[in-house]
Amino acid sequence: MQINLACLYPGLLNIYGDRGNILAFSQRCLWRDIEVKIHEIGIGDKINPEYYDFYFIGGGQDQQQIAVSQELQKQKQLYTEAAENEAVFLGICGGYQLFGHYYRPHKGDELRGISILDAYTVAGHDRYIGNVTIKTHMPVGNPDTLVGFENHSGLTYLEPGTEPIGQVIVGNGNNGKDKQEGARKRNVFGTYLHGSFLPKNPHFTDYLIKLCLKRRYGQAELAEIDSGMEWIAHKKAVKRKY
Ligand code: GLN
Repeated sequence: MQINLACLYPGLLNIYGDRGNILAFSQRCLWRDIEVKIHEIGIGDKINPEYYDFYFIGGGQDQQQIAVSQELQKQKQLYTEAAENEAVFLGICGGYQLFGHYYRPHKGDELRGISILDAYTVAGHDRYIGNVTIKTHMPVGNPDTLVGFENHSGLTYLEPGTEPIGQVIVGNGNNGKDKQEGARKRNVFGTYLHGSFLPKNPHFTDYLIKLCLKRRYGQAELAEIDSGMEWIAHKKAVKRKY
């Protein structure tokens, strides 16, 4: 089996080693003899919504988000079609913010998003920096915790039609007020969790792999693999204070 992966603007949005998400996703596929074709999408590149199963975009500073926001708008309809056809998306922090309707920074114009999540972001006065643990209701099995590291001043608010990926136990999450973290609509996911996110959350990684396989092949059984190291890292992170 094969999964076609588009890595969106890694030259611009890839702060905090968010590329580690691609490494974890593809390695957990390879350990199961699932081939992953990784294509980097840069400024001016076109996407083919028929071809890609999984779209990944990392985080970055406001400046880099401006360029990516403009590029994403050029193919907004194609991303919308892909999301409606159950393609899997994972956006981290700055990339997550651009999956919503807009990101309004402190200075300069509002950055338009592609609205594949019903959410919007406005710059806050504090920068949230620290370890995060959330309790997720996503069907990832046990444990029901997800861990990561946040560094953002943006405050994200979800609208009807989009649910959080979990409730904050440690940290701030989307906005430090409603105890929500991340967002999900169809198979589009966004989160503030850097770390990078997937390596320390093998159960969530496998969930994304299953969603990709189900969409392309109609079935999604994954062979058990040894995830001992990943769980050691996960359990250490769960214990961390903010
Ligand atoms: N510039 C955005 C913010 O500060 C996103 C930061 C990030 O991707 N870590 O909220």
